Amino acid sequence: MQKRALVIGLGIAGMAAAIGLRQAGWTPVIIERAPERRRGGYFVGLMPEGRQAAVDLGIDGHLHTRNPPDGGNAWSLTRRGTREPGMGFLHQPGDPAAVLRGDVEAALWQAVSGDGAGAEPVEVRFETTPVEIVDTGVDVQVLLADARTGAQYRESVDLVVGADGLRSNVRRMVFGPHEDYMTTWNAMICAFQLPEQVPSFAAADSIISARSGRAVWVFGLADRAPTVLLTYRTDDVAGQFTGSPVQRLRTVFSGMDDPVVRHALDSLEEAPEFLFDSVHQVKMPRWSSGRVVLLGDAAWCPNLYSGMGATSALRGGAELGRALRDNPDDLDAALSAWESRLRPFITKHQRIARLKQQMFVPSSRPVEALRSVVLRLAIKARQRRRGSVPVG
Ligand SMILES: Cc1cc2nc3c(=O)[nH]c(=O)nc-3n(C[C@H](O)[C@H](O)[C@H](O)COP(=O)(O)OP(=O)(O)OC[C@H]3O[C@@H](n4cnc5c(N)ncnc54)[C@H](O)[C@@H]3O)c2cc1C
Repeated sequence: MQKRALVIGLGIAGMAAAIGLRQAGWTPVIIERAPERRRGGYFVGLMPEGRQAAVDLGIDGHLHTRNPPDGGNAWSLTRRGTREPGMGFLHQPGDPAAVLRGDVEAALWQAVSGDGAGAEPVEVRFETTPVEIVDTGVDVQVLLADARTGAQYRESVDLVVGADGLRSNVRRMVFGPHEDYMTTWNAMICAFQLPEQVPSFAAADSIISARSGRAVWVFGLADRAPTVLLTYRTDDVAGQFTGSPVQRLRTVFSGMDDPVVRHALDSLEEAPEFLFDSVHQVKMPRWSSGRVVLLGDAAWCPNLYSGMGATSALRGGAELGRALRDNPDDLDAALSAWESRLRPFITKHQRIARLKQQMFVPSSRPVEALRSVVLRLAIKARQRRRGSVPVG
């Protein structure tokens, strides 16, 4: 009989896991708390491991990418408000693929819902959450709540995959409280889509205005207006969630009066949706316990500064499928093999994220100055390699 898995969360990690499970001959069912799919979203750079995982999961053909030719021009704004050549996110080694979170979501959804390639569609139940998870050793008994009907019902599965994001309920129920696993980075982010490019810049330009403790990043894309990330450091994370986020951001960025900050804050006032959240990493000694496994941000959130969350979620799902295929009769062995393959990769990128955070938003004036010097050298080297200078 085919083994059944309950995947909790219809994000990138959940759908990647469901496809991996299906490739391994399992029958996955996905439950999602929200009433419908979450589309759109912010800029995501997919690294080579993420692009390879997309191939392994068979979604690369559905994935819409938005890289401007040659990575596009990137500009840095100086403290005087003048522009100079900069290093954009897409200029880092590995040639990231530029996508929106929604592009990855859409590609995965096409595969999950049956893409005409003969694969069975995965059953997806919206407005459904787990209430209780009991691993009996033989199966997992999950009590589920359907918010539409108010009904609760019990289901028996062979494996539960918790892919329910940074503040995972599965992690809390099975492994322990958030405080045990979520590390706080004393930083905040706000990400959203701009309706149009910052005035006087070319449509696909990327623009960075980074000062000690606060920064704005505009991610230029080939075929639509850029997305923007406002990020800042704070010692009072809880306090950031009181009052209006827009007002809070206006206060934090006051005095940083350049055209990018102005355009971002004015656009935020009109934005139909935005993400405003604190920054964390999730660190766990082990990602599975018996027949329950965590995957994606729930297990290892490397955070946005790492630029590896979507990449590692895709890879995690693809590798889970491979480990289950390689160990069809031994779930423990499969989960151990999966974790051994993945953990060095995750640990490495969680560590590098601290350094990358300094590139996103320097922690002090001296670091800001050092960052500028390092970037100027890197830009010169890049220009020498390409034999070109951006045109403003
Ligand atoms: C601003 C920003 C920029 C980023 N940039 C990059 C980048 O450049 N490169 C990169 O690789 N990554 C990037 N990331 C990270 C990346 O978006 C995530 O790591 C990735 O999407 C994996 O998320 P996930 O599927 O694990 O979790 P999520 O996307 O949080 O999905 C979890 C899902 O579970 C559902 N859920 C939650 N609780 C329950 C419940 N109790 N029951 C049922 N369902 C539930 C949620 O509704 C949601 O649909 C960025 C993230 C941010 C915020």
